[in-house]
Amino acid sequence: MSSQPLASSQASSGRAPELDAVIVGAGFSGLYMLYRMREVLGLNARVFETGDGVGGTWYWNRYPGARCDSESFYYSFTFSPELDQEWEWTSKYPEQPEILRYLDYVADRFELKRDIQLSTRVIEASFDEENDCWRVFTDDGKSITARYLISAVGCLSAANVPDIKGIDDFEGEWYHTGSWPHEGVDFSGKRVGLIGTGSTGIQAAPRIAAEADHLTVFQRTANFSIPARNAPLSAEDWADIRKNYPEIRRVLKSSMAGFPYTLTERSAKDVDDEERTAIYEELWDHGGFKFLWGSFFDIMLDLDANATAADFIRGKIRRTVKDPKVADMLVPTDHPYGSKRPPIDTDYFETYNRDNVKLVDIRKAPIAEITKNGLRTEDSEYELDIIVFATGFDAMTGSLLRMNIRGKGGRTLEDKWAAGPRTYLGLQVEGFPNLFTITGPGSPSVLVNMPIAIEQHVEWISDCIEHMRENGMRRIEANLDAEDAWVDHVNEVASMTLFPRANSWYMGSNIPGKTRVFMPYPGGLVLYGERCQDAVSKGYEGFTLQP
Ligand code: NAP
Repeated sequence: MSSQPLASSQASSGRAPELDAVIVGAGFSGLYMLYRMREVLGLNARVFETGDGVGGTWYWNRYPGARCDSESFYYSFTFSPELDQEWEWTSKYPEQPEILRYLDYVADRFELKRDIQLSTRVIEASFDEENDCWRVFTDDGKSITARYLISAVGCLSAANVPDIKGIDDFEGEWYHTGSWPHEGVDFSGKRVGLIGTGSTGIQAAPRIAAEADHLTVFQRTANFSIPARNAPLSAEDWADIRKNYPEIRRVLKSSMAGFPYTLTERSAKDVDDEERTAIYEELWDHGGFKFLWGSFFDIMLDLDANATAADFIRGKIRRTVKDPKVADMLVPTDHPYGSKRPPIDTDYFETYNRDNVKLVDIRKAPIAEITKNGLRTEDSEYELDIIVFATGFDAMTGSLLRMNIRGKGGRTLEDKWAAGPRTYLGLQVEGFPNLFTITGPGSPSVLVNMPIAIEQHVEWISDCIEHMRENGMRRIEANLDAEDAWVDHVNEVASMTLFPRANSWYMGSNIPGKTRVFMPYPGGLVLYGERCQDAVSKGYEGFTLQP
């Protein structure tokens, strides 16, 4: 990307913008934002989407084993009771193709596709101060103006492929899980290397091991994981879910993390060992995030409380993995449970009991280079036919920054965020009027069941735009003091939790050179929703609105 702004070559039109809004991305956020803009506000909006289909995260992440880690009937839109009745998930944790089919169905069901321009990447957006609008440039060489620019790019969409020496010389195939080939990858008879043991690597490893001739997992950090306990949903299950949808939705919207579990008031330190173990055993058998959100309130607040959960999981790993040396390598020791995003799995630790799977500790002997025939660590060489990078994403800010956004005075978002992202409520950035970020840094976003976080943001933004129109306003911008106060508040709340104790993508520490700062808001959905509503009821306190 040239550092010369494309906008400087465009004369300001002096006319009303061509669109009310440009929305970037056609995943959960972009689809619902478009629905609200068009069907609820009656406005003229267009979505630009890089992929050649809708679905966002679920369009790109097609790797084997990709599935949701929140139960399907919580991980879906809640805005349409008709949609609730029409769609039926096949299982508790559906696989990626089913979620993609759901999003495609939603796009067709609400006739959204006519306003979605696929295979189009936004390469720059510049704020036109004279006309209070954004000029948005796309990679087809065109540009368009819109009053509002709404980012629906997702928190985990800028793939992180590590800069490892020799990758271009590799004569086999290599893939990043976040941009997986649509035709799939045939692992049969192949020697596969998998780098990364986050949620993605943990989902992919058992599936690759079952298909490949041999799998070598290159692990930098051992990770905690809880069994998902996926199961099909029967007709009786569905009858129950449908009947209870209103109550399920009520509880999840009034919960800490957008799940229908009420956070218990008991501390892990207030019960004796026997009772605590019985609680953990029950949640282990239940599977999924309930282990974190339905056990004790202080797991993410208190190291000693956390240690009880961490030790329980370590014990499970040791009992599952037959080779004690391999089990030793798999037992996490350097971060509290939950301080890195906790994966849930299907037979992950069991995979290491297979004869065709080897675990390599690349913390002890780091990867030195990729060679013609495989990969060399500081102490060994591994011959590989396929390398799979499950190495995560430049999370929360990567996709926003890649759009080359320029606000007032031509200042880039990259410059504004040089020392880490700064937003007011994760919704707006001072100096970037009429730009909204759905689940932006500083909002609960990735700490909450995503569709619920997304719906709350989309509804706040569309209500705000409605308010602007009703009151003849054309410009809204976060105030610097409100932004500063919000960033301080996010940091203060984060420092009360155990999140900052891990090197995680929440902290930006997975990307070399990225500022280490906790990016999502850990205060929970309810508290956050109240803060957003509070700003509205005080006349959009913290924002400046101009006619
Ligand atoms: P991730 O959690 O960032 O994990 C990346 C893995 O790659 C880590 O093990 C990391 O090691 C390793 N790694 C990164 N750079 C490396 C390098 N240069 N050399 C060696 N190893 C390297 O990424 P992810 O697994 O793709 O997951 C990202 C997020 O996506 C998840 O946390 C979750 O929110 C979401 N996700 C959700 C689901 C779902 O079930 N719905 C599934 C997959 C992903 P370190 O730990 O040492 O950095």
